[in-house]
Amino acid sequence: MIDTTDINKSNKEYQNPGMHTAEHILNQTMVRMFGCQRSMNTHIERKKSKCDYYLEQIPTAEQMAEVENRVNEVIDRHLPITTEFMPLQEAAELVDLRKLPEDVSQTLRIVRVGDYDVCACIGAHVYNTSEIGQFKLLNWDFQEGRLRLRFKLT
Ligand SMILES: [Zn+2]
Repeated sequence: MIDTTDINKSNKEYQNPGMHTAEHILNQTMVRMFGCQRSMNTHIERKKSKCDYYLEQIPTAEQMAEVENRVNEVIDRHLPITTEFMPLQEAAELVDLRKLPEDVSQTLRIVRVGDYDVCACIGAHVYNTSEIGQFKLLNWDFQEGRLRLRFKLT
């Protein structure tokens, strides 16, 4: 029995491995650029998806354009997506486990996007970022500290 941070996500995410893998890259990009947490509220669909992040101030249009650029740069590196199973204690040094439920199992599935991202996840991913396509930021809004952005893949 394996628990992960994706425990509350809908099945749709597992039917859209390209979208879901792009979400991993987007999360890491947001963490690096803004120092925020990975998205805890995501909605992954085949045509378009959305993710929420909590930021201290509204990002600029230039920053959001850079988010899109950075995600595409990572995709264009054709990074392999790899998974391994890891004891909880070992995983704790690698990934943020604060989102895990309290009754989490002692083994986690750790998913890496090349050397760019690592997180605990039970979802379905592509094998290489070359399968994702191009990441397109559709729009975003900022309300009371919550940045909600919508994206699609082309
Ligand atoms: Zn995943």
